[in-house]
Amino acid sequence: MTQPDDQSSASRAVPRDLAPVDEVLRVPQVRELRERFPKEVVTAAVRAVLGRLRDEILKGDREIDASQVTAESVAPWVVALVERSARPSLRRVINALGVVGHTNLGRSLLPDECVRAVAAAAAFYSDLEIDIGSGERGSRQVHVHDALCDLTGAEDALVVNNNAGAVLLALAATARGGEVMVSRGQLVEIGDGFRIPDILRESGAGLVEVGTTNRTYLRDFEQAWTDRTRAVLRVHTSNYRIVGFATEPSLDELLALAHGRDAVMIDDLGSGALAGLELFAEEPSIRESLEAGVDVVTFSGDKLLGGPQAGIVLGRSEVVGAMRRHPLARALRIDKLGIAALDALLRLYVDPAVARRRVPTLAMLDASADEVAARAARLGEMLIERFAGTGLDGEWPATGDLEVVSTVARAGAGSLPVTDIDSAALALRPAHGEAGELADRLRHGDPPVLARVQEGRLLLDMRAVRDEELDDLVDAVVRAVA
Ligand SMILES: *Cc1c(COP(=O)(O)O)cnc(C)c1O
Repeated sequence: MTQPDDQSSASRAVPRDLAPVDEVLRVPQVRELRERFPKEVVTAAVRAVLGRLRDEILKGDREIDASQVTAESVAPWVVALVERSARPSLRRVINALGVVGHTNLGRSLLPDECVRAVAAAAAFYSDLEIDIGSGERGSRQVHVHDALCDLTGAEDALVVNNNAGAVLLALAATARGGEVMVSRGQLVEIGDGFRIPDILRESGAGLVEVGTTNRTYLRDFEQAWTDRTRAVLRVHTSNYRIVGFATEPSLDELLALAHGRDAVMIDDLGSGALAGLELFAEEPSIRESLEAGVDVVTFSGDKLLGGPQAGIVLGRSEVVGAMRRHPLARALRIDKLGIAALDALLRLYVDPAVARRRVPTLAMLDASADEVAARAARLGEMLIERFAGTGLDGEWPATGDLEVVSTVARAGAGSLPVTDIDSAALALRPAHGEAGELADRLRHGDPPVLARVQEGRLLLDMRAVRDEELDDLVDAVVRAVA
């Protein structure tokens, strides 16, 4: 509890000397706000600014006396606070980190085809759940169902909110009240502190961990089997690798075991690499899993597939149908914007060459290091052009302080964790100040630019920067340097 009377430690003026709310509301700048915002909003902002100042003065954080706080002096803060609250919080960011599917930056960028489909579905009514031919009620799943089956050879398909939801639903529909077996080495944390085991337990299925962290054999599964076992789950350890002394039973062995004992085989592939990129060679194949006879395959829509957030479920009709009818399916429903984006995305996959070109995640990952280096060189030229004749050109960038360098990029979103992707960055050494300060200014710019600092240089990795972002990136760097 704070004790309002106890100010013995503060020789500063008492907070009640701060400007009165009414007086701040009468300052012209603040009065102007009232033309655009409701009175309650402006008054609340005045109170918030005065309250924060009061706290800071009491704590001794601010080198001012309460009596110096005038209505005029707090007005700009009030204006800033009100205007900030009216701006959307989610902002566009330029990703010069070289991490393509960066989870914290929104994972995959959608192709234009998807963006247009999302905009149309957002702005207009659609035949989301109505069969236009008959006028009868339909399912939102029809818009992606056939395309998913055609592309993968799956018998049936279902799309939910995300892959964590897909796995949860698969277990709830197949193993609730029973047990599901998972190899101990596959009980991964998928980011943000969410752990596969915690999610699995919410399905109502008992989780049986089999084997050891690095070595699990088929006989471990056989020994752990009980008459309550309903499913075997394989989780692709997409965001890490156990290398060296490691063993897992093969998919075929697990399948034979599960199907021989009337249990369901579920394969959580995580990234879901559907495009035939060379880079994806080590990723498990969706088709292979299905052809081997896995009952349910699940993966994310926004990792290596390059689409919207979604959990994609493929597999045998009997099991996928049970998932579709499960009450949780409604709670995990994909939204219409996701359906619109995924629908448009899957059309691009009909021709793999088109997908590689049009889907940003694929195009970014597929670009050669030379192509990325050429983009970095282009950025350098644009910067030099912009600085020429600004008065800053003599100071920066001086020769040698602007250079294209080799870097290592990442697929992001935990995908391809041990794959180094040769990439290129424009390295900048500022003539004044530290590279770290330049990085901070870039991050605080509009749009914010995220970049790395290495050995006193700012590295703008160009693998995840698109050509259409170059002008904005140049502007951002010029502002940050000036
Ligand atoms: C990423 C991942 C998930 C979670 O997928 P979301 O679409 O982010 O919910 C689950 N399992 C594995 C193996 C993953 O890699």
